Amino acid sequence: MKKLPLLTLSLLWLASIASSFAVQSNVPTPESVLGYQIGADFKLASYEDSIGYFRQLDAASDRLQLVEIGRTSFNRPWYIALISSPENLANVERYREISQKLAHPQGLTDEEARQLAREGKAIVHIDGGLHASEVAPTQHTMELAYDLVAGVDNPEIQAILENVIVLLWPSINPDGQTLVADWYEPNVGTPYETSSMPWHYQKYVGHDNNRDAYTLNMIESRVIERTWRHWEPQIRYIPHQSPPFPSRIFLPPYADPIANRVHPLMSRTINTLGMLIAQALEERGQVGAAHMEEFDVWYPGYVDHLPNLQNAVTFFTETALFEYATPRFYTLRDIPEHRRDLRPESLYSSPWPGGWWRLRDAVEYILTSSHATLGFAAKYKERVLYNRYQAGQDTIRRYTSDPPYAYFLPQQQRDPVAPVELLRRLAFNGIRVHQLQSSVNIEGNTYPPGTWVIPMNQEFAELARNVLEVQSYPDLRSSEEAPPLQPYDVAGWTLPYQFDVEVIEVTTPLSDDVRGAMKPVEGEVVDWRPFFQQNVDPASRDIDAAPFDSAPGLGFDTDPVAAGIVPPVGELTGSGVALALSPAQNNSFRAINQAWREGGRVQFHEGRYVVSGLSDQVAGELHLRAERTAASGTAVSQPRIGLYRSWRPTEDEGWTRWLLEQYGFEFTSLRNTDFHSRPLGDRFDVIVFADYDTRTILQGFREGSAPPQYAGGIGSRGVRALREFVEAGGTLVCLNRSSVFAIQELNLPVKNVVADLDTQDFYVGGSLLEVAVDPAHPVMAGMPAKANVFVGQSPVFATTEGFEGAALAKYQEAGSPLLSGYLLGEEHINGYAAALDVRHADGHVILIGFRPQWRGQAFGTFRVLFNAALFHGENAADSQGSKDFWSPPPER
Ligand SMILES: [Zn+2]
Repeated sequence: MKKLPLLTLSLLWLASIASSFAVQSNVPTPESVLGYQIGADFKLASYEDSIGYFRQLDAASDRLQLVEIGRTSFNRPWYIALISSPENLANVERYREISQKLAHPQGLTDEEARQLAREGKAIVHIDGGLHASEVAPTQHTMELAYDLVAGVDNPEIQAILENVIVLLWPSINPDGQTLVADWYEPNVGTPYETSSMPWHYQKYVGHDNNRDAYTLNMIESRVIERTWRHWEPQIRYIPHQSPPFPSRIFLPPYADPIANRVHPLMSRTINTLGMLIAQALEERGQVGAAHMEEFDVWYPGYVDHLPNLQNAVTFFTETALFEYATPRFYTLRDIPEHRRDLRPESLYSSPWPGGWWRLRDAVEYILTSSHATLGFAAKYKERVLYNRYQAGQDTIRRYTSDPPYAYFLPQQQRDPVAPVELLRRLAFNGIRVHQLQSSVNIEGNTYPPGTWVIPMNQEFAELARNVLEVQSYPDLRSSEEAPPLQPYDVAGWTLPYQFDVEVIEVTTPLSDDVRGAMKPVEGEVVDWRPFFQQNVDPASRDIDAAPFDSAPGLGFDTDPVAAGIVPPVGELTGSGVALALSPAQNNSFRAINQAWREGGRVQFHEGRYVVSGLSDQVAGELHLRAERTAASGTAVSQPRIGLYRSWRPTEDEGWTRWLLEQYGFEFTSLRNTDFHSRPLGDRFDVIVFADYDTRTILQGFREGSAPPQYAGGIGSRGVRALREFVEAGGTLVCLNRSSVFAIQELNLPVKNVVADLDTQDFYVGGSLLEVAVDPAHPVMAGMPAKANVFVGQSPVFATTEGFEGAALAKYQEAGSPLLSGYLLGEEHINGYAAALDVRHADGHVILIGFRPQWRGQAFGTFRVLFNAALFHGENAADSQGSKDFWSPPPER
């Protein structure tokens, strides 16, 4: 490999920007528009306030242009501001073109790249954050815009405007900014001033809006990625607000482990930026910056980390926060004992001694961080641009001579839509996909025409590899007796396992014959501007260009590669009035729900759903393979489904709600008070609890910690109602930790065998494990005999005296079931059940000890949730499962 240019640190002198220099006098200050200083105690600007201010800047200055880029989940118009010198903005298309060329460097020579880096401008993304209860970032963007637009005589600002095009996002979660401001404002001065908001700050998934970067299920993720694909910023800075206490800001370098496959130039630049920001903070007397604590970057699903796998320097910071805009005084006693001596540490050189902490302080820390980042980009503009080219070229070169050379995805899969769902997401993230035009032989296998190929000699190949390969989370324990190092998020996510798609890694070089048979995929692009400009909800299925995929509305089809990835045409064989649909195809459930809406009937027969009243058109749109049949089976009436929704919002409930909506299930969100009125059985056949801990279900927000209407949980009255519901024949479906609640509160003859184990003995860090399932049981219909399940904080079941029912899934009797991630102590789960159907009087409790709908990405296990939601009435009464599927291991 070529010698890489060294990045050198230099002192960056940052003045207090607005005050020391003349300002452009016609530019309104934030205060003159908002009526208060940014970051003032008890004041939060909503997204509308913020955009109102940006509009005024746009009108007053030729250095800022506000551009509409899409819509949010609540259909709110969404904007970015382009900030640079008027000359640069006049030429912005040329600079965007240069940015594109360097990001996608195939065919460029080093000399041409150098030339482009000299001519081009650094494009730097800075935003107002996406975790909306972390309030300072959104407030800071208004002031940053003002500093840049108004600071005419400031040489630092001049250098930035000359060399950098700033893509400033007032917020990357506009809905959340307004939801939080609207929640906080009326609570100021009441006992609930610092109460948590009883709903998510994103329509569905709240905090997991930063866990969706490679799956792109949320419209926000797709708008961000599409905008990034358009501009290809070389640096992206996403501010947050939850540092390890007592530090005032957490900065890179991150804690280990860092993501596999990131080009080292990205990590090195991020580390340099972290140190540069720390230094700039010290220059301004802003103490308490810390590094290398708590936050690892192992998981690539973070919006603020994934782009590193696309060779774009992307990082986050975490500035201190009390609650919203409420200030707080800390004494030395609030500081943890081991840091009370205020001893300077190498990476915490200016310990924070306590005192007042206000929103204004956080805003100023983030402003310093943003200015330092922009100053770096201005000073090292050429390098910033060239390094992106360099990293891309290195990746192309690497996979030209090293394996894997390609990934092959045959069209023949258990669910033919599954590989399409996987590939469209990769393509939207900038991965080029090819398709075989004729059959080829490689490594002893024959691949027919139509097989998809991801050639690895492409610039973003490391992203494909990271999500397709098996994760081996490093064992960083100091000794075998020590507790495992727990990942900040999860340990394993391998998409071929999660999607249950066969993906072949090709480790021999692709011959000319093979390359000759490959043709780049390209489809007809859908332009989504007309939609968001006409106030049409972009996440609506009414405008869905690809009804076969699980991401609703516009999105993947706006990318030419993704738009060209479509499943093989469906096939209806046989004769008869009804269609037998295999639940191995997730879209069968969409068809079933559609049939019910159109007055059709559904029966269950030998592992398939027999559906009448479904039009051929719907089956065609969903690319279903099905058999016409005259057979009939057990009636499955449309279930009346209740989905529990606590006032303490959890991401998993949001993902479950989102997924059920995408597959056309009709359901009602069940609130605590719904458990206290008339019998649940009058209104529901199936009640689903997403992954909740028992306390949240029973107690919710503590009395007094939230306004009375949001305090409390279902309580003992709710438990009684739930018990009566099941005893009278209802089905209760408990996902993951909710199983523990059901075992305990309904006194089920089941035990969670991993409940009392120490992490030294047993630990799974959010990983993929293999289980054997019983496909003869309706809840497991359509599953393969060996299935990949996502496990994290999951119970493992043994049955006790009096158990009636069936095991649905079990762990192997010996050896490790680990597929991807990290598992310590498999002997504690060997032979036990991973899911149970517990008969309880006339009803059923379905305990799922894994996460079948995890983050909307466990595509291969969605059907476990869907089948469970249809498991009621006659269908449930008849079910047995295979007699000899499981016998509990002897007590040990
Ligand atoms: Zn955050």
